[in-house]
Amino acid sequence: MSNRVDLDTLTKFARRKGFVYPGSEIYGGLANTWDYGNLGVLLKQNIKQTWKQHFIYSRTDMKELDAGILMNQRVWEASGHTETFADALVDDKNTKHRFRADHLIEEQLGIDIEGKTGPEITEIIRSNNLKNPLTGKEGDWTEARYMNLMFETNRDKINPQNPDTRIYLRPETAQGIFVQFKNIVQTERAKLPFGVGQIGKAFRNEITPGNFIFRVVEFEQMEIEYFIKPPQNDDGWNTIFEEWLKSQENFLTYKMGFDPENFQHKEHSQEKLSHYSKRTVDLDFNFSFGFSELTGLAYRTDFDLKQHQEHSKQKIEYTDPSNGEKTIPHVIEPTVGMDRLFLAVMTEHYKEEQLENDTRIVLGLPYDLAPYKLAVLPLMKKDGLKEKGEKIFRDLRSQGIMCDYDEAGSIGKRYRRQDENGTPWCMAIDYQTMEDNTVTLRHRDTMEQIRIPHEKLNEYLNQEKYNSLTNK
Ligand code: ATP
Repeated sequence: MSNRVDLDTLTKFARRKGFVYPGSEIYGGLANTWDYGNLGVLLKQNIKQTWKQHFIYSRTDMKELDAGILMNQRVWEASGHTETFADALVDDKNTKHRFRADHLIEEQLGIDIEGKTGPEITEIIRSNNLKNPLTGKEGDWTEARYMNLMFETNRDKINPQNPDTRIYLRPETAQGIFVQFKNIVQTERAKLPFGVGQIGKAFRNEITPGNFIFRVVEFEQMEIEYFIKPPQNDDGWNTIFEEWLKSQENFLTYKMGFDPENFQHKEHSQEKLSHYSKRTVDLDFNFSFGFSELTGLAYRTDFDLKQHQEHSKQKIEYTDPSNGEKTIPHVIEPTVGMDRLFLAVMTEHYKEEQLENDTRIVLGLPYDLAPYKLAVLPLMKKDGLKEKGEKIFRDLRSQGIMCDYDEAGSIGKRYRRQDENGTPWCMAIDYQTMEDNTVTLRHRDTMEQIRIPHEKLNEYLNQEKYNSLTNK
């Protein structure tokens, strides 16, 4: 959509408001690292909680896991990451610009280079005289080289090259679930079909990080592995696959508040499918730089569990309690990057409204995502209004209602600050409050004001929560 906020405006806004700061800024920064500030932490927490509620807690067939970032390096041999988790890069010798070869070729020739070797890719780039997209001129291309994306460290302090003590920072959270599959089945007495959800950090030494928090080197993933009986035919897995796809779409529409026009399916063609996947559908979101991958959904067959069984030499089987039959379950994997989702949420809900005399910036977040549900604003600092406001503020916080307090500047300015924070309600404390304990509630989106008895506040907040869930 044309009224999408541009990335530069959004990045500056996020920083000014304390959603996201550039990493290590006082030392000149560290490229493509970001820190989440106070409002960012709250928004992130609410996104995660909403994800858990939607995909895990509202269902009866889901468990959770919080696996470590560091795992035995053999995990990554089994999963194939050590060997194949690599992207090919090329540099334009004229300008020193670096590109991902697959992106360059796909954009200019529309071909997919999955599975091609470095020399084959070099040949494609050179023989087609590909342009440097940043200059529009033909590039003087280096050989294409594959680079593994995993960050590694070593526990051997004396000999840091020792291959036996090498450790990778996990490049995805999924493998933790496969590695703990046996334990989960045993301790949870889990019966197929069931899923395991996990939120955690992942690290990738990306060739071309960028676009604010869209592609970063340290990020969080929210992943689910949903285990099913080995299917007899395609319907056996595809029906469940479609249900998860619908659930992902519902999550984006009803929980994140996205206009369905702002995301679209991208079905991976047979050639583009990873070697382990029988079907993959991404949901691409309309970011300010165009539609790009936000979520993924893959049917990974029994590839992962089989690989771990083979490499660990441990039986990783599921025993059907009804007939004792032993099988290796298949798996469907819905996944979304936390940071990308955060960016999508900010992009979707950032609005600049033209008012008569100025522009109002509003972060129109759904109630559940809003960092603060309410802001307490005493009209004056004198005559006991401040003390009254502070008391209400403390009481609400101790009841677990996340709210803010602001007494600085005109009430109009304070409303605007909260509009930018995404706070759905502002509560003004005035002289009448001191007399009859009524307060004024002002709504973020309509800017309408109503006067209510203070004790009715919870009703209004609950109504807002309800509306934000059912209006869309
Ligand atoms: P891409 O094609 O954009 O590199 P991918 O297909 O490799 O992503 P997956 O391995 O499927 O990504 O990871 C699952 C999710 O994690 C993605 O859908 C995305 O939301 C998120 N993600 C992946 N890489 C990054 C990154 N470098 N920075 C932020 N989020 C990421």
